[in-house]
Amino acid sequence: MTPVRPPNLSETRFLRALQAFASVVGAANVQSSADRLRDYADPFTPQPMAEHFAASAAVLPQSSDEIREVLAIARAYRLPLWPVSTGRNFAYGGAAPRLSGSVVLDLKRMNRIVEVNETLAYALVEPGVTYFDLHAHLRRHGIPLWIDPAAAGWGSVLGNTLERGFGYTAYGDHAANQCGMEVMLANGELVRTGMGAIEIGRAWQSYKAGFGPSYDAMFMQSNFGIVTKLGLWLMPQPPAYLLAQVKLPRESDLEAAVETLRPLRLNETIRNHAVIEGAIRYAAGVSTRTDWYDGDGPLPESVVGDIVARLGIGRWNVHFAVYGEPDVVEARFASARRAFARVPGASIEAHRYGAGDVPIGGGEGNMAGIPAMSAFRMLDWRGGNGAHVDFSPICPFTGGDAMRQYSVSKARLAEYGFDYYGGFTAGERHLHHIVATIFDRDDPRQVEAAADLQRVLMSDARAEGYGVYRTHLATMDFAASQYDFNDGALLKMSETIKDALDPDGILAPGKSGIWPRAWRAKRGN
Ligand code: ADP
Repeated sequence: MTPVRPPNLSETRFLRALQAFASVVGAANVQSSADRLRDYADPFTPQPMAEHFAASAAVLPQSSDEIREVLAIARAYRLPLWPVSTGRNFAYGGAAPRLSGSVVLDLKRMNRIVEVNETLAYALVEPGVTYFDLHAHLRRHGIPLWIDPAAAGWGSVLGNTLERGFGYTAYGDHAANQCGMEVMLANGELVRTGMGAIEIGRAWQSYKAGFGPSYDAMFMQSNFGIVTKLGLWLMPQPPAYLLAQVKLPRESDLEAAVETLRPLRLNETIRNHAVIEGAIRYAAGVSTRTDWYDGDGPLPESVVGDIVARLGIGRWNVHFAVYGEPDVVEARFASARRAFARVPGASIEAHRYGAGDVPIGGGEGNMAGIPAMSAFRMLDWRGGNGAHVDFSPICPFTGGDAMRQYSVSKARLAEYGFDYYGGFTAGERHLHHIVATIFDRDDPRQVEAAADLQRVLMSDARAEGYGVYRTHLATMDFAASQYDFNDGALLKMSETIKDALDPDGILAPGKSGIWPRAWRAKRGN
């Protein structure tokens, strides 16, 4: 691959900028060889698109002071920077920048767990801290607090929270359990939000708002600043917990699954981010597609029926957890079991655990605060050089909405030759509907179909009044354009803020469809 250069910068000036970066962070922490830059390409981005999102270099600072100096150089050269924490935002772009030629500002060397407060159950972390790191730290020090891991445990706690990722315990809504940030603005100014603006900040991780306007959410999925520290609430390790699986036999049972789960979530019988997953996704955790079928096109319903029968699973499977004192766990579970038992043909299994126990076989560890990498198993489903791109619409928590989103996306996926590999994760009043398109990166037909399909799925959803909560670099402008109430007033406001905070347009141009004035002509390209 030919090296990519920052737009609007001569080779000489680019090399001079790299030298200036090296004088700040050390030459070893400025990467520009094709070989090293491979780490900054999303391995899941369909190959033909990869050069549209290529980094020209990566700079790895070790402190806020170094970031400030890097920013000064970037402003002087009008050189766009793309901050990442660990850059494992796979399926949405990984570490790759939206604007090709940007320099990735890789913060993985800033990896201190600044504080864990056992009494108030919170942590304050830097960008490079992964779910594995934080989990290991708590266990090593015998601190009885749980993290809420994202699906892949190697990712950054801070990066995932900024993307509004989610997990599977009662603290599954990462953005909602965030409290207090330290952010460096494009001009090099360091801001602490909420109670952190008090110099010694004793309640920084205890109370979100502080005094006056509250800004934390503004730095999520945006390009308004570089987050250098982030507070998050941790879940006290429960004295006991129970993991349950409900198997529902029919395709149409999705509706009953959702209608049964909602009241249990709203009245807090079930407090975790329960998951409703289709049979194919379940099967992909324990088998590959060719074990069942080797024809073209989506799996026929009869084959899905075989999978359900032979694996002894449901057409839909609800996984949920109950946490608390053993008698509380039993009472809550009894109530949930009664509710699900009303669905004809439902069967329910449960496993009980004591404080600190690890779930049998390691499965469902995510619901017990244990990070893992098993999510990657899905990549073997189609064989070849497996990758996935996700369509992630928000679904109101009703059976009717879930059925509508499921039926429409399943039909579209089939039209493009893909299986419905999806599931719903339960918030309180919404479901995250995650539909992965799994494709073989070495098969150009699959790659092209997977890429085209994303826009079609998003358009279908938009026509019904739904929008995505997160999307790949390739569809960020498209997603932003769908949030178009009153002639796109929301995006206009975001760009007004962007221009005020970052007049030189150096921070993550194009992130979430927000383009600074200097780069606005790049929108849609
Ligand atoms: P993870 O490795 O957990 O998936 P990433 O490091 O890839 O997370 O971050 C996800 C996205 O969040 C990045 O693409 C970037 O847009 C944004 N981001 C990550 N870290 C920061 C940060 N420290 N400041 C501002 N934005 C960030």
